[in-house]
Amino acid sequence: MDGKGAIHVKFDLPSPVIQAIDRLENRGYAAYVVGGCVRDFILGVTPHDYDICTAASPEEMKMIFRDERTIETGLKHGTLTVLLADMPLEITTFRQDGEYLDGRHPASVSFTRAVEDDLSRRDFTINAMAYSPSRGLCDPFHGREDCALGIIRCVGEAERRFSEDGLRILRALRFSARLSFPIEEGTARALRRLKNNLQKISRERIASELTGILQGRDCASILAAYGDVLAASLPELSFMDDEAWRRAGGLIPYCPADGMIRLAALLRNCHPSGIAENCARQARLIIQGLKMPVKMMDGAEQLVLHQQDAVTLENIQEMLWRLQPEGLSRLLQMKKAMALYEGQPGAEGRFLALEEKMQGLIRSDCCYRLGQLSVKGQDLAAQGLRGPAIGAMLEELMLQVVRGKIPNERERLMDYIRSNTSRLAE
Ligand code: ATP
Ligand code: MG
Repeated sequence: MDGKGAIHVKFDLPSPVIQAIDRLENRGYAAYVVGGCVRDFILGVTPHDYDICTAASPEEMKMIFRDERTIETGLKHGTLTVLLADMPLEITTFRQDGEYLDGRHPASVSFTRAVEDDLSRRDFTINAMAYSPSRGLCDPFHGREDCALGIIRCVGEAERRFSEDGLRILRALRFSARLSFPIEEGTARALRRLKNNLQKISRERIASELTGILQGRDCASILAAYGDVLAASLPELSFMDDEAWRRAGGLIPYCPADGMIRLAALLRNCHPSGIAENCARQARLIIQGLKMPVKMMDGAEQLVLHQQDAVTLENIQEMLWRLQPEGLSRLLQMKKAMALYEGQPGAEGRFLALEEKMQGLIRSDCCYRLGQLSVKGQDLAAQGLRGPAIGAMLEELMLQVVRGKIPNERERLMDYIRSNTSRLAE
């Protein structure tokens, strides 16, 4: 059945990809690039990787590429990674999924010799095309048409596809956000109806799809239209109404393409009280629940906590001390996005001036880390301070310095210490 109904188009494939396909074809096995890269070609986007699928079984692939460097980690599932001219290529035997029992994975997969079978298990029509230089485009589900229409549509019956694997619900939102393709009506209705299937999806997968959605150029409309669906994967956000989702989404396009800032923008009002401290604590719990890196958790929590803090040319050294360069730089970016979203006049200029002032302070040897303070812990110990009193005094000195009340000079700081130790040593 191969080749039947093939459409003749021509895509430029990198030469290692062509080599791999030719090698399989010369041994009598159909081989194609498939999925995301074919979609990208049709949309005129340069693919970031190339997946190959083939009629050859895993054992046959191993034989064919036995003289190349290969990685066999995925072989059980039919995938062999082959390094051709240093390009890692994932080559997978055509597969057919068995029954789905857990709402995420097929209970079994079987290998097949027909590319159409392999395409029929894929999620969306735009992701269910295969192409080979000799065979042309294999597009049994009219993915090319949906690319032209600009819509996300399930392969086959949407309700069944989302029941099989709930992750597809978030994937639909992610592709819609990324490509600015609305979700076809039947597919949208089905994913809304089955949104609770997201509860069966691992937190890690939810985290990675959510990150993708937040990076999408049409993220704002997805959040506005499908907030309730997202909340099914983030139950802590169930209290948000349509308006809250619209506001959360509206800010995101103003943020730079930084995962932490965008996540903080999403979570900046993630507690019903709207109080920054509560939102920050809640954001931390949500991010922890998503099993994201600690760095992400700390950084986003800090952004949510300080989102309403005034940063001015006068207090910026103090803010630099409290948040350190990385944190303050991100806070300025987030606050700038908030100001632009709110349409504050002169926001661009104001934040440019703050950014420049901050960079200037960092370049000069101004004091914004404890290590830069002209007195050290042992100086305080020499004055009779002990334990926590030392830390407290260092903090107090830092505050005096970053607020410009005392210059960062040893003698002036020692004076301050002497006139305040009796109080602290009690
Ligand atoms: P990206 O550019 O984001 O990598 P992609 O289309 O390559 O987009 P992947 O997640 O890399 O997306 O998946 C590769 C292909 O595998 C998809 O194009 C799709 O055909 C298929 N696929 C991936 N996940 C699923 C799923 N959960 N259900 C059905 N098909 C899937
Ligand atoms: Mg991919």
